[in-house]
Amino acid sequence: MDLDKLKTTDGLDLSGKRVLVRADLNVPAKNGVVTDATRLERVVPGLKSLASRGARVIVLSHFGRPKDGPDRENSLAPVAAELGKLAGLPVALAPDCVGDAAGSAVTALPNGGIIVLENTRFHKGEEKNDPEFTKALAALGDIFVNDAFSAAHRAHASTEGLARLLPAYAGPLMMEEINALRKALENPKRPVAAVVGGAKVSTKIPVLTNLSAKVDKLIIGGGMANTFLLAGGLEIGRSLAEPDLVETAREIMHAAKSRSCEIVLPQDLVVAERFEAGAPARTVLTTDVEPADMILDVGPKAVGHYVDVLSRCETLLWNGPLGAFEIAPFGEGTFALARAAAERTKAGTLVSVAGGGDTVAALNAAGVTDDFTYVSSAGGAFLEWLEGRELPGVAALAK
Ligand code: AMP
Repeated sequence: MDLDKLKTTDGLDLSGKRVLVRADLNVPAKNGVVTDATRLERVVPGLKSLASRGARVIVLSHFGRPKDGPDRENSLAPVAAELGKLAGLPVALAPDCVGDAAGSAVTALPNGGIIVLENTRFHKGEEKNDPEFTKALAALGDIFVNDAFSAAHRAHASTEGLARLLPAYAGPLMMEEINALRKALENPKRPVAAVVGGAKVSTKIPVLTNLSAKVDKLIIGGGMANTFLLAGGLEIGRSLAEPDLVETAREIMHAAKSRSCEIVLPQDLVVAERFEAGAPARTVLTTDVEPADMILDVGPKAVGHYVDVLSRCETLLWNGPLGAFEIAPFGEGTFALARAAAERTKAGTLVSVAGGGDTVAALNAAGVTDDFTYVSSAGGAFLEWLEGRELPGVAALAK
């Protein structure tokens, strides 16, 4: 995959063109009300820009996990309404994404108009990347714009299939995400630090393996650090850990060492006997965890050490919280490191790129999201990119 081959619609005459845009409108919603419109806010400028160039903008997206065809709960109706509000334009919803209903809605769409087609996952052909279904989608557009980086790790009809049937372009949000990741991984200002946290090491093995070959410092925190502590022969009490992965943790440490990547583990920890808000917590050295303890955050010494390591780095990539940040006081380690990274970024001495659902939630809770160089709206796709995998939705655009 040659990312330099990605094309955008810049310079194209789009007047009157039917532009099929794959967006990620899969936002959190409850009882028909969108509860977090961040993803919509990010996709709106790209849609408005196409509309202002006279394009007929036809938006495709999946929403939720419908099991057996259409159902009210997974209808994009409230999302289309919210999108219209944010865009300040009327945005109608076509009752289907293929067939006559979609066709007549598209025919009626004027130049500069935006329409959302109903949930692509109401059809089995979407996730199967079925050629007939993809053809039916393609019949609705003259060109395809994929602006859904966060869905690009899936080879579905609306993400990968369409790019093979229509002239295909990367949308502005897609380009933003890819450029931010390339800046941090392909040709970064060195030294580069990666912070990898989160619950379990099992979900992050490929990320750790790939990053250890690319970054200079690999800072490990969160529940997954416990397996590394265990690998070092330390007591971790009743903490979350995966003892069957102790050998894997050793292999990762070994591989990192042979590639001159320093693995940075916590020097102290915040422990409690119960995993609940307000549980009495203690800060202990990594060597002093008691059998009844649960490790729920990294301690202040660990944060000080991480900040020190970071102060000698020019680029930061971050995925995964350093502790159980949703429950006070176990977010303090994550918040403190996030604030330090934000300060350095604001001072212009650090390029900071973060992504993943929990990471974004933690940065939001720390109030620093806007101070990072780039915060990705993607979860799975961000992680797969960090694993060094080719995302089918991106590869199809870069062919
Ligand atoms: P992940 O989805 O793997 O990035 O994991 C994120 C989750 O890890 C968050 O819900 C955190 O609460 C949780 N987490 C982080 N550190 C710990 C820890 N020490 N013990 C238990 N859960 C943790």
